[in-house]
Amino acid sequence: MIIFRTKAELAAFASETRRSGKIIGLVPTMGYLHAGHMSLVDTARAKADVVIVTLFVNPTQFGPTEDLDRYPRDFERDKKMCEEHGVDVLFAPEAGEMYAADSSTWIEELDLAKPLCGASRPAFYRGVTTVVGKLFHLAQPDFACFGLKDAQQCFVIERMVRDLDFQVKIIPCPLVRDDDGLALSSRNRYLSADERSRALSIHRALLEGRKTLEEKGIAVLDDVCKKAVEVITAAGGRVDYVEGLDRATMKAPGADCREVLLAAAVFFGTTRLIDNELVEVKR
Ligand code: AMP
Repeated sequence: MIIFRTKAELAAFASETRRSGKIIGLVPTMGYLHAGHMSLVDTARAKADVVIVTLFVNPTQFGPTEDLDRYPRDFERDKKMCEEHGVDVLFAPEAGEMYAADSSTWIEELDLAKPLCGASRPAFYRGVTTVVGKLFHLAQPDFACFGLKDAQQCFVIERMVRDLDFQVKIIPCPLVRDDDGLALSSRNRYLSADERSRALSIHRALLEGRKTLEEKGIAVLDDVCKKAVEVITAAGGRVDYVEGLDRATMKAPGADCREVLLAAAVFFGTTRLIDNELVEVKR
């Protein structure tokens, strides 16, 4: 496995790889890897000649009061996991390498990025789309894998690719959970044992919501969200949002909605966790 720290090294490698006709698969991450990340890597490995994983805690997607400084990092562990999963290139730049000090250009998606995490974290998606756009230019992937753990992010990136004609196929990958149902996240490591067991209420509440929606249809969506808030609050969570939106538009589901994204963001202690269920609308 080759490790690159500079953009120039990655771009030169990618150009050469493309010239030789090889398929490049990209998996962008912020590191502190877990089985969720590795499922994306395995998907990429199965489809690509060359797999590039990026490890970059992207400062532009964190708000001023968020956890940028304490975001968990363990380069040696990440490196070992990538080696074990057959990754070809690990790109791990410093923030100063990725952004010029007077960088002043952004990629911003202004529709799908508005609700949910976009409403709670105003700088978030602009930072994500900008860094992912930069990584696409540098790594020149044929395809890139994104997890449905961050479903809205995945849809925003699909829209960015469509609108700005990036020549990359986005492969959405299933959300991976721990055995007890908690969605895997690098941030789970912030949770105390007590918070972690209380946080299982998120998945429980969303599953209950899914079941009700499947039985009764989207007419009961508001009640489903209210009930989920109750369940999570009773377990000690501070709910940022529980909302059900049309997956295609990220707006309240109308008559033509085919799939609802039932999504939650919840604080346990100071840790903000997100989770979701994608629920097919039956007619
Ligand atoms: P992150 O390092 O949290 O920015 O995540 C990097 C990529 O891994 C994103 O595409 C995430 O959606 C994906 N990812 C993170 N956690 C999971 C999970 N539990 N299941 C599936 N994909 C995940």
